[in-house]
Amino acid sequence: MDNELIKSAFDVILENSTDLVFVKDINLVYQTASMPFIKMTGKSSLSEIVGHTDLEIFEDESLAKRYIADDHKLLSIDRDLTDYVEPITDDNGNARYGSTSKFILRNDAGKAIGILGITKDITHEYIARKRYQQEFNYLFELPKDTYAVCYIDIDSWRIISQRRQKISSCTLQECNTIEEMCDYAISSIIDQKCKAAEFYNHFTAENLHDIYSSGRRTLTFKYERKLSDTSTRWIRNEVNFLTDVDTGHLCVVLSAKDINEIKLEQLKLAEAAKLDSMTMLLNHETSMEYIKSILTNENDRQHALFMLDIDNFKSLNDTLGHQAGDKFLIEFAKELKNHFRESDIVGRIGGDEFFALMRNVTELDQIKRKAEDILEIIQETAAEFPQVKLGGSIGISLYPKDGTQLDELYAKSDSALYTAKRNGKNAFVFI
Ligand code: GH3
Ligand code: MG
Repeated sequence: MDNELIKSAFDVILENSTDLVFVKDINLVYQTASMPFIKMTGKSSLSEIVGHTDLEIFEDESLAKRYIADDHKLLSIDRDLTDYVEPITDDNGNARYGSTSKFILRNDAGKAIGILGITKDITHEYIARKRYQQEFNYLFELPKDTYAVCYIDIDSWRIISQRRQKISSCTLQECNTIEEMCDYAISSIIDQKCKAAEFYNHFTAENLHDIYSSGRRTLTFKYERKLSDTSTRWIRNEVNFLTDVDTGHLCVVLSAKDINEIKLEQLKLAEAAKLDSMTMLLNHETSMEYIKSILTNENDRQHALFMLDIDNFKSLNDTLGHQAGDKFLIEFAKELKNHFRESDIVGRIGGDEFFALMRNVTELDQIKRKAEDILEIIQETAAEFPQVKLGGSIGISLYPKDGTQLDELYAKSDSALYTAKRNGKNAFVFI
């Protein structure tokens, strides 16, 4: 055997290998190593490795001791170790996963004379496998908030496994085929225009491959759906794409979590955002929106738009302080709302300005009486603050007589309000 030839071939392999390769003698002193191994240790040349032990090479003493202990164990059990996964670092010190094999080198007589170690960087496969196993675990134990998990092999187009559980006495139906599962999902979604309905309506192998190819690994949908006992609940539907590590098939894991309580709380907050936070009347923007839709949808009726500004409100603030001013506004708003029908719109424009739409009102007298009522409740509310003389000025315009567009009516009521102020306040004026 030409030892020189074999040595030079081995050197070429070491120089070019992307694996971490090392050779130690029986005293665990390094004899040679591949470039990736040298870099992993933080060194730059082979000469910094050869002739040294782990304790001299690795700064981390406990790591060096662990390597040495591993090697001693290998030699004492006198058997090669193959393909065990261990954490390693790359050239830049980043954490990676390695698959390591250690072989005992022997002389012709079979006596151990050293160790050959080979570590492959398997971070990609390892993470893919871990992710796969994690998803797979759901099929054995569902998280508390999860109705169901369904594991589907797209390439063989079948449901591999599914698991369900009851939440708040609701369950999801078991489906035997992907088609059945999609039909069931679609039929139970309340808003048929939502993204989830669109997804299940186009649940084909081709579309799912397209999504996967675009780099997406997870899709999530939140929607309201019907459940077994016909109640409706908000759920969060997650679609996780992964490749089966054994078959290479594209798979999706569908899961449905219950988010009903949290979603209802959010909806309540959104609803609250439509209200003026101080008086809890509709805010300017929302009342305008509501009035607009009433004028469009009930264009065959008469409606009255009231605009109201408190007289001398500043003097209340100035005399008794802002808190007293706030108190007045809150109490007045409550009374104002009570004096209109539930179907009328009552909103706060801002400051001491309010407006209201008296809906479907036929008699002018009714409108006048309402205006007088408002002036009366201002006096009643103001009675608590006798130090100041408050009042109210009201401008009123009528739909459709004074205009058919809200902007026009708004401007006219505003102008009538201004007339009331100019004429000495505490009065209502029709445009
Ligand atoms: P007039 O009715 O004669 O037009 O005058 P006014 O004294 O009522 O004053 P104006 O309507 O011009 O302005 C309303 C004042 O209300 C201005 C501001 O200092 C005060 N204001 C606005 N928003 C609030 C609020 O949220 N709380 C309190 N306390 N005061 C406010
Ligand atoms: Mg005012």
